[in-house]
Amino acid sequence: MTTVNIFWFRRDLRLQDNAALYHALKSDHPVVPIFIFDTNILNKLEDKEDRRVEFIHAALEEIQTKLVKIGASLEVYHGTPLEVYQSLLCKYKIETVFANHDYEPYAKEREEKIAGLLKKQGASLQTYKDQVLLEKNEVLKDDGTPYTVFTPYSRKWKAVLTEFHLKQYPVKKYFSNFYKQPAVAIPSLKQIGFKAVDKPFPSKQLDEELVKKYGKQRDFPAIAGTSKLGVHLRFGTISIRELAAKSRELSETYLNELIWREFYHMILWHFPHVGKGQAFKSQYDTIEWRRDNGEFELWCNGQTGYPIVDAGMRELNETGFMHNRVRMIVASFLTKHLLLDWRLGESYFAQKLLDFDLAANNGGWQWAAGSGCDAAPYFRVFNPYLQTQKFDPQLKYIKKWVPEFQEFGYPKPIVEHEFARKRCLEVYAKALKKEF
Ligand code: FAD
Repeated sequence: MTTVNIFWFRRDLRLQDNAALYHALKSDHPVVPIFIFDTNILNKLEDKEDRRVEFIHAALEEIQTKLVKIGASLEVYHGTPLEVYQSLLCKYKIETVFANHDYEPYAKEREEKIAGLLKKQGASLQTYKDQVLLEKNEVLKDDGTPYTVFTPYSRKWKAVLTEFHLKQYPVKKYFSNFYKQPAVAIPSLKQIGFKAVDKPFPSKQLDEELVKKYGKQRDFPAIAGTSKLGVHLRFGTISIRELAAKSRELSETYLNELIWREFYHMILWHFPHVGKGQAFKSQYDTIEWRRDNGEFELWCNGQTGYPIVDAGMRELNETGFMHNRVRMIVASFLTKHLLLDWRLGESYFAQKLLDFDLAANNGGWQWAAGSGCDAAPYFRVFNPYLQTQKFDPQLKYIKKWVPEFQEFGYPKPIVEHEFARKRCLEVYAKALKKEF
């Protein structure tokens, strides 16, 4: 049996500037690159036209085309990681499996199981930082504890970051160390139980002009003023080092958004309970959320009678994307106007967002509900009409997604704003034992 090392692609679907791939290729044995369509994850996806699966599939095909040109091949499996590694251990003599860090609770659990299996067979799992610039304990308060407020975290982050963290890994130099074999077929989407929708995905090119104007334009959903790179960062089809190095020179505001991303990854790592359905601040788990499936459905379908909320939800349902400003508005509306549990909204976004990322999505939802680490104060209830005046003053975004909003058939608001605001403050105040 040939002795090999394995490189395990997960959320780092690229051959360039990839930390663990670089270390794998520099090792002493030829490297077999693999990807697993993990049935523990896929079986939970109800929608078989899930565009994230299609996105991953397309990224794997792109990688395969490049590998085949150099006489190597990706091996793509469909099953549980444990089953797949058991069969790999029969096929190859594996010395080391290389992978990049993943901070999500399921990924950590999965990794422990695989590391245990490998150890029994005399092999090991080695993991590297790749999807963020600074992780885990690299940005801590002076007393050694993790930050839970963004502004001081971002200040320290900027002080800690050096050119070293932005340096790219020259992977190409070591391409000759890929294990040579004829192309192994990648299972089709149909074979793994999914269907293609065939709509275009956002481009992975950074639009430098857009980033220069980002600070001025990013809050207006009618303008194409944000980079739409979320899905590429989520699946690692672009490198955070390359993106941060470029954007640092173009826009401080844009860099700050990349730091928010790192902040939420750090929070998930240090406070994994947030990723398991619990509020960051536990008192918020005593809020008496209303239960109203009908209202939840109206929210999901963009039929609340609040045009800015409906526009956002329709954009999400139609495209898998929603502008950040509008994500904040619809999330605040669900949790505060309708007083429905933020976990319902979190899970709806998780089903629908192309750029769904557990850490950022959970951070965004807990921010809106007030239960998060550095959240909107409980008494701040966004007024959807004022938000519209400020961020969609010509109603362009609304007209695009809710063209009938001034017509007779458009629903009346499902709840009156002032009534909803008072109800929210009373219920929150009761749970948080505040004076109202
Ligand atoms: P840009 O504005 O161009 O920003 C560039 C990148 O910075 C983004 O792609 C993203 O990786 C990062 N970023 C920007 N804003 C944030 C933020 N507030 N928090 C964390 N990272 C940020 N972002 C996700 O990537 N996945 C999610 O599942 C997600 N869910 C959200 C849910 C709610 C309720 C809210 C309020 C925000 C959520 N966000 C999420 C954050 C933000 O809305 C998206 O990152 C952004 O809208 C993606 O569009 P873009 O790529 O054009 O971003």
